[in-house]
Amino acid sequence: MKVLTLRKRAIVIGLCVLLCVAGVVIYFTAIRPTFQPKPQYTIVIDAGHGGRDGGAVGKTTETTESYLNLQFSLKLKSICEEYGFKVVLTRKDMNGIYSAFASNKKRSEMEKRMEIIESANPDLVVSIHMNSFSNSSARGAQVFYAENFPENEEFAQTVQDALNEKIPNAKKTPKSSDFYVINTTSKPSILVECGFLSNPEEERLLVSEEYQEDFCYVLFYGILSYFSVNNL
Ligand SMILES: [Zn+2]
Repeated sequence: MKVLTLRKRAIVIGLCVLLCVAGVVIYFTAIRPTFQPKPQYTIVIDAGHGGRDGGAVGKTTETTESYLNLQFSLKLKSICEEYGFKVVLTRKDMNGIYSAFASNKKRSEMEKRMEIIESANPDLVVSIHMNSFSNSSARGAQVFYAENFPENEEFAQTVQDALNEKIPNAKKTPKSSDFYVINTTSKPSILVECGFLSNPEEERLLVSEEYQEDFCYVLFYGILSYFSVNNL
């Protein structure tokens, strides 16, 4: 057997070391995705009204919309967090988020909402409201969207589909609208009118803790469906 010279031996050893290093790199590159943390989605939940702006009022129980918006928002927040989402609320209590010194409180409130939304840099925005109409027979949850982003309509339709499937008397189709919050945000956003406080039967449901909980699970199911449909 021919004895290798020192130089040839060095080359062979060098090649072996290179192959081993390449093998280790390929192995770890292949398995690395399992080591990467899952992306955490951020959702802004925007409870409409607050402070001296109570919004609509229930005819039977005199419950304010601002109170119910907050209750629904807090419940939706708990569910989202339970499933690992990061949640930012624009309003955490019954106080208005406008500046106490602002001469135009509505404008100040809207600017503050936008400031919170934009600094959270969320994947989605869900604004929560209760509806009201002069005809007390009007009822049903409905999703509104702004036409500034094409994905808003799809987001609204996905959540409306979930509501239609699980919530009695939900409106059948989402509707485009010029609500300030969903019109001015730079992220996909919807506004959910959870039901009509002007309809006594629906008001009775909206003030029920159990109904609020069930409703928020359906909302969350709609949000999840939107994420999975779009592979987000
Ligand atoms: Zn409202």
